Amino acid sequence: MLLLSAVAATGLGQTASRSAPSRPLAKVRLAGADYHDAADFGARFGLKAVRSDEGRQLTLKSTWTTIVLEMDTRECSINGVRVFLGEPVREHRGTLHLSRIDAEKLLTPILLPGSGESQVPVVRTIVIDPGHGGGDPGMQNRALKLEEKSLTLDTALRLKKLLERQGYRVVLTRRDDRALARTKKADLQKRGEMTVSTRADLFISLHYNSVESGADRVTGVEVYSLTPQYQYSHSDPDREDSTVAIANPGNRQDHWNALLAYTLHRELLSGLKASDRGLKRGRLAVLRVTSAPAVLVEAGFLSNETEARKIATPAYRQKIAEAIAEGVRIYANTVEGVRRQRAPGKS
Ligand SMILES: [Zn+2]
Repeated sequence: MLLLSAVAATGLGQTASRSAPSRPLAKVRLAGADYHDAADFGARFGLKAVRSDEGRQLTLKSTWTTIVLEMDTRECSINGVRVFLGEPVREHRGTLHLSRIDAEKLLTPILLPGSGESQVPVVRTIVIDPGHGGGDPGMQNRALKLEEKSLTLDTALRLKKLLERQGYRVVLTRRDDRALARTKKADLQKRGEMTVSTRADLFISLHYNSVESGADRVTGVEVYSLTPQYQYSHSDPDREDSTVAIANPGNRQDHWNALLAYTLHRELLSGLKASDRGLKRGRLAVLRVTSAPAVLVEAGFLSNETEARKIATPAYRQKIAEAIAEGVRIYANTVEGVRRQRAPGKS
């Protein structure tokens, strides 16, 4: 992938991974969370820091990579892709700071895949989860007679074909119109836990989105990965989740979750030319219980007439499947690259 090749080309990745454990970044406690100076963090990856917008903005930049951070907001951009941090960027003694968990669990996996990870996953078996089914239709567009459950199944079948062509073993959580259990909670748990029973290496849950207000203007793609322990989800700005201190089984894959989500989100945006709703974090039931790197894709809004009409066409759903398959290919290549770097005989 782009960022890995940047690292390989400059050799910065190796320097960064060697120096990181011996010289930990300085920490400061701000608003209840550990923070690092963002410019110091960027320097680890060979990124130059430039302040702009009267100091409100900090750009971390190299030939290949541009990260834009903004004071007092959780929103940032990584090579033009919208990404939501778990904690806002904060100013402290005149410099902008980034939370330690965001640095370690979101930006590092994207900038230097494998850094700090002793285990490098393989990608052989992929579980695709067509959202909803049976008595749960998911989101609906009544005027266009669209139901999320049928659209996700169709997209999943298209994706299955593409991934099998790439040589992967693909398992679907459902192959027809059914729920996996009587309650929604048990149904979601079963879907995620299929990664355990199938010894899967990747989990992709497919969904289509909807809003109640602003339907005429809200469109685009969002991709979720599991919220790291001690962080609050995108949907929880008031910090009401009492389970933040719990480490879910899916949190074991935090590093690869972030890389997978970023890669898939970027490929969906470029493949569909859809608007960018951002890479987000959620403690979503299906993502909590997975034993493999996992994402949930919201591929478009059924509540928006223009986007719903696109999603209703097989050609657009094929495009969605192709973009995700391309994301999986790039992710797997990246992971394989990390594995090869570590192979005996190579430093
Ligand atoms: Zn859904």
